[in-house]
Amino acid sequence: MTVTTRFAPSPTGTLHVGNIRTALHNWLLARKNGGRFLLRIDDTDAERSREEYVDAIRADLAWLGLDYDGEERQSARLAQYEAAFAALKDAGRVYPAYETAQELELKRKIALGRGLPPIYDRAALDLTDAERAAKEAEGIAPHWRFKLDHAESIVWTDGIRGEQKFDAAQLSDPVIRRADGSWLYMLPSAIDDIEMGVTDVLRGEDHVSNTAVQIQMFTALRGAMGSDAPMPRFAHEALLVGSEGKLSKRLGSLGCAAFRERGIEPQAIVALLARLGTSQPVEPIADRQTLIDTFDLSTFGRAPARFDDGELERINTALIHQMPFAQVAERLPAGIDEAGWHAIRPNLTTMADVAEWWNLVTGPITAPDFSEEDRAYLVQAAAALDFSGDDPWQALTGTLKEATGRKGKALFLPLRQALTGMDHGPDMKELLPLIGETEARRRLEQSGAAGSKSAS
Ligand code: GLU
Repeated sequence: MTVTTRFAPSPTGTLHVGNIRTALHNWLLARKNGGRFLLRIDDTDAERSREEYVDAIRADLAWLGLDYDGEERQSARLAQYEAAFAALKDAGRVYPAYETAQELELKRKIALGRGLPPIYDRAALDLTDAERAAKEAEGIAPHWRFKLDHAESIVWTDGIRGEQKFDAAQLSDPVIRRADGSWLYMLPSAIDDIEMGVTDVLRGEDHVSNTAVQIQMFTALRGAMGSDAPMPRFAHEALLVGSEGKLSKRLGSLGCAAFRERGIEPQAIVALLARLGTSQPVEPIADRQTLIDTFDLSTFGRAPARFDDGELERINTALIHQMPFAQVAERLPAGIDEAGWHAIRPNLTTMADVAEWWNLVTGPITAPDFSEEDRAYLVQAAAALDFSGDDPWQALTGTLKEATGRKGKALFLPLRQALTGMDHGPDMKELLPLIGETEARRRLEQSGAAGSKSAS
């Protein structure tokens, strides 16, 4: 069977770094196996779902380079859910319940007060037909619960957590449908996974107990609908925490827009999140195929994965330093060719720095004031410029070294300062040809002119 994974966000907000990580891992798992990666929009909550978030999710996935092989929407599948629900009802696996939220809360408190787990007591199952009819005559519409099979123990081999076992009797029969007929996420998701041929459900460990319930839903649905779809494999990854080791509010709202604003490249997010929380080293890997080939659930740890902004920034900078011209050409200010990109690339922290460094080539630059001795040296340098060979910087400094006896800092620094206005920066060997002979001579002469100052 073709490996099929899905990323199933609820469009009630934009993606945050935890969602991005789940999406990425599902993408990597599908790509590694030559399989399919689906985007499923979980929008059964009509009140909180927004079309603008659906658009934002698509745009973020595109920016991250996570292409998908199909898009599904739960709101377009209500007829399928209705049919599955009817089949489960016939099979006696769903039942109506009439408690109000307050009544349920009270039951919960009483159970907790007695030191018992707050498991739903199934009181609704004991209602007689007459009692149900009376509730409905009062105008109370039921919500619906899925009836867990207490006799069947729930076991699965989790792709990350290993053997998992749940006692169904220790779980509440989950509410699957609200009194207004709308769906909660759990049952539609199980129906979709079966009907869309999902083979692998990979998600955060906050879903472990949902999986326990959904495994029984799968079995019940297959029986009720006469399907022979195999049960998906499940894997639950440890949650992402802030670098201080805690679940952080900030991470919950940190998304692509904020990354973009800080000059973080999508490749950096992908490289970091692909390996974070695994036993494989986090490295500035630009090549997607390498990340795909090395993706391996068995390397995922059980401890929370720590997201560190500093690490993201280091990876980002390292990736920018390797970026080929063709990949950035469109984003560069006019005039920067491949040689220009290579000259400034090692100095960038983010792409936002490009203009500042390129300004060293185009000018104007502001040179410092020089001592009389250095001014004479710079005048000499202007005269010594020779662009006839293929390395004018080497030619210039070689000539000056011989002619003046200067070496080291005394030889190089006044030249760099006069040519760029800075004490450090791109390799002068690469920069000087970009500045060009005429402009370089002008800058050296200007700095060398007696009493000269500033903009050149
Ligand atoms: N919409 C659900 C969520 O965002 C999907 C969970 C799942 O992957 O099944 O939590």
